[in-house]
Amino acid sequence: MILGLLNEPNDPRVALTPSNLAKLKVEGLEFLVESGAGSDAFFPDEAYADNATVTDRSSILQKADVLVSIQPLSEAERAGLKKGTMLIAQFQPFVDTEIAAQLAKQELLAFSLDMIPRTTLAQAMDVLSSMASIAGYQAVLLAATHLSRYIPMMVTAAGSIKPSKVLVLGAGVAGLQAIATAKRNGGSVEAFDTRAAAKEEVESLGAKFVEVEGAIDDRGAGGYAVQQSEEFLQRQRAEVQARAAKADIVICTAQVRGKKAPVLITADTVEHMRPGSVVVDLAASTGGNCELTQNNKTIQHKGVTIIGDSNLAARMPQDASTLFGNNVANFLKLFISKTGELQLDFNNEIVKGSCIAGQPVQA
Ligand code: NAD
Repeated sequence: MILGLLNEPNDPRVALTPSNLAKLKVEGLEFLVESGAGSDAFFPDEAYADNATVTDRSSILQKADVLVSIQPLSEAERAGLKKGTMLIAQFQPFVDTEIAAQLAKQELLAFSLDMIPRTTLAQAMDVLSSMASIAGYQAVLLAATHLSRYIPMMVTAAGSIKPSKVLVLGAGVAGLQAIATAKRNGGSVEAFDTRAAAKEEVESLGAKFVEVEGAIDDRGAGGYAVQQSEEFLQRQRAEVQARAAKADIVICTAQVRGKKAPVLITADTVEHMRPGSVVVDLAASTGGNCELTQNNKTIQHKGVTIIGDSNLAARMPQDASTLFGNNVANFLKLFISKTGELQLDFNNEIVKGSCIAGQPVQA
């Protein structure tokens, strides 16, 4: 079997590192790596060459039985593939609602890494958590570089500086990492979330948890957030406005899987914020938690900087690729037999949950 690893045209990360290939190597499995695939993440072609053939993209697209990438291939590139080729990428079928049908029509077998269930068993394969954690960390660093203040308290001969106030909206994977990073940097941190379990997690990081009464109980949702009523969101927006008006940094990470991001910061709230404060909106690609966020743009509104960077993990491509690659390698181990053949078990929850096209009809 031939596994092809592709270069990402608009992303410095790579989906598998040289050490992932070394560990996946078995008799009967051949690796083809697109030249330059890892170079922006500091994994040069020579490092792959020990276990793979480094070659051009079109040879890989022609020969591979399994193609691994972070971003999906374009429709035009997919059209030239052998029928039944297995594709592994982040297809985001919740966002691109046409993709599953297109892949099925092209008779391709597709596994979407972002559809791997967020269960304990699948944790080692969870690219969303790995990248969200980096995004939470990077969001605070990015805010710090745009802020015209210190984050920590400073006592100097020239006077004392109070610590910056950091408000984090949503305390899931990205939010908790943002809280931890802001705390490590000496910020005074408070956070909102609607999940019942979030309070303890936020407090264990030393931050203040802000409660808004009346959130819909999520305990039956398997750890996932549930969509809140408009009435609750209105009350929450008022509470957020009061806190945001005093904050120096606001990090937005609130989301309900598969839905448009809830708007928690209105334009009016931004206008109540201090000039010089910074909003980093991680939910930019699904509409943003801030009404004024523009995806992949940094804007200023009445002295407030609003950053909508949707690929924060690309700011540290080496560790992002290491973690992404480890997740993908763990996922691939579910499919690759000891003799290097594809072995698909559609009774496995992770295999079934992540397959978005080409799943055989069960008898
Ligand atoms: P997650 O599902 O782990 O966390 C989201 C949290 O938001 C949950 O804890 C949920 O309870 C909470 N939430 C939902 N509605 C809320 C509300 N009204 N008020 C307060 N909290 C609410 O998600 P995650 O993996 O941490 O990702 C968070 C966001 O960051 C997503 O929008 C994701 O797409 C985005 N993200 C962005 C980047 C980037 O580079 N910009 C990278 C990774 C993830």
